[in-house]
Amino acid sequence: MKKYQTEVKKYLKERDWDNLRPADIAKSISIEASELLELFQWTNQELEEVKKDKEQIEKIKKELADVLIYCFNMGVLLNFDMGKIFLNKLEKVKEKYPAHLFKNRDKKVYTDSKSIYWKIKKEHRKKGY
Ligand SMILES: [Mg+2]
Repeated sequence: MKKYQTEVKKYLKERDWDNLRPADIAKSISIEASELLELFQWTNQELEEVKKDKEQIEKIKKELADVLIYCFNMGVLLNFDMGKIFLNKLEKVKEKYPAHLFKNRDKKVYTDSKSIYWKIKKEHRKKGY
């Protein structure tokens, strides 16, 4: 992770982009995430279908990289340890969605509004997470 942060820091400094406003970076993350989402507009392909579509895979890689670059831009500008914030959040998500409640469940668990997934999500929103 440090390697990526060092690369991004250099990239920003070389362009005098090392004082960009976080709000602009947040907007850019959202814009690039929307470009990623656009690749799936009017489709509802399953994972294996997407994996087989080599052209689509290349487009996904590019947009995902755009999102990551802006995420790293934000992390570097705000002096975050990206590895640390990633792992801290991943631990919280693991606690939020315990594996034993989701392993071997069918897809209905995410789409049924009365499912365990939505119950957990509603509980956490009530707590302000
Ligand atoms: Mg893009």
